[in-house]
Amino acid sequence: MPGPGRAAVTLREDGAVPSGRRSSKRPYGTEHTPLDPDRLRGGRRTEHGRDGEWTVQDVRGSEREYRCPGCDQLIAPGTAHVVAWAADGMFGPEAALADRRHWHSACWAARGRRRPTR
Ligand SMILES: [Zn+2]
Repeated sequence: MPGPGRAAVTLREDGAVPSGRRSSKRPYGTEHTPLDPDRLRGGRRTEHGRDGEWTVQDVRGSEREYRCPGCDQLIAPGTAHVVAWAADGMFGPEAALADRRHWHSACWAARGRRRPTR
């Protein structure tokens, strides 16, 4: 029987058992994954604007930043925004999808009043 101060397991002053090993598990989602709109079904919708028909996809937040064509400001990683691409793209849906743009939600909603800067 270990005497006082000679316990088999030495606890730290806060009472916790020292951790000799770290979990090798990584938090899910730390890997960079390119946006795959087909994986994000749910918030997708089609909008008809003066500038044509658009497929709009809500995005909860990306891991990288994008430049919003509406205000020419960056959309910070993790910021909810929308991705839009032409639903009636003249070069086909795949080309339109490849040319998708990331917009602030408010900028997208206001695009009828503000032309894209690029
Ligand atoms: Zn914007």
